[in-house]
Amino acid sequence: MAVLLFFLGHHYFSLFFQTFFQHRYAAHAAFRMSKGWERFFYVITWIMQGSSYLSPRAYALMHRLHHAYADTDKDPHSPLFSKNLMDMMMKTWRYYAAVYDGSMPIEENYKKNVPDWKFMDKVGHSWASRIFWVGVYIWFYVTFATSPWMYLLIPIHMFMSPVHGAVINWYAHKYGYENFEMKNTSENLFPVDLLMLGEGYHNNHHKHASRANFGSRWHEIDPVYPFILLFDKLHIIRLNKSMPDAIMGVNRLERDAETFAAEKKDKDMVA
Ligand SMILES: [Zn+2]
Ligand SMILES: [Zn+2]
Repeated sequence: MAVLLFFLGHHYFSLFFQTFFQHRYAAHAAFRMSKGWERFFYVITWIMQGSSYLSPRAYALMHRLHHAYADTDKDPHSPLFSKNLMDMMMKTWRYYAAVYDGSMPIEENYKKNVPDWKFMDKVGHSWASRIFWVGVYIWFYVTFATSPWMYLLIPIHMFMSPVHGAVINWYAHKYGYENFEMKNTSENLFPVDLLMLGEGYHNNHHKHASRANFGSRWHEIDPVYPFILLFDKLHIIRLNKSMPDAIMGVNRLERDAETFAAEKKDKDMVA
């Protein structure tokens, strides 16, 4: 029982801060917050993601490029350009590392309003931190596991954030249903997404990238959205109500049908 609670707790809490802080806030600026709150959420994200902490800055930059180039050869992660799930995860990791250390050149317009706290990134990325958190997971299982098979869950704890990323980047670009016709393979993975806290409404999200609510149809409940409304009420964050796409226009990064057609034509002409 303790192991089950620990596993579910780690899954949901780390995913909550990934979708709330790294995805909706850092990458898409769906809401604003003060520097103080930003730092608070940096620290909480580090605690929740533990050994698989991802820099919100590197996450945001890589993710903006995913929206801009979804399912083309410039996409950081696309099932169309990977042999299998593992291949895509490894490519994503190399891409992320290059974004993190600055060796990947990125156009200035993708860097607008990206949070940056080098100290916390250094801490979260350090071997000391990674090993410390793996030690915590192992300690928990040694203390509370009631059967040897439970130890098989430890690698999932260790790589929780990449596992969450892979579920969406692979499966939600392969399986599901579409509400919106897009020039990419994004799908809504589940009609009701409690498992991935709304991240599974990926087709909706590609259509309206900077919307705080990922649900679109009546049954598409986004479990994170009520928390966003609550945080807004408590003045922890400020939702961009009047100008939903204005902060940095990430929505406009998603290539519209005409741009896509024009690019395709250029490519065909070259070929
Ligand atoms: Zn996508
Ligand atoms: Zn996104």
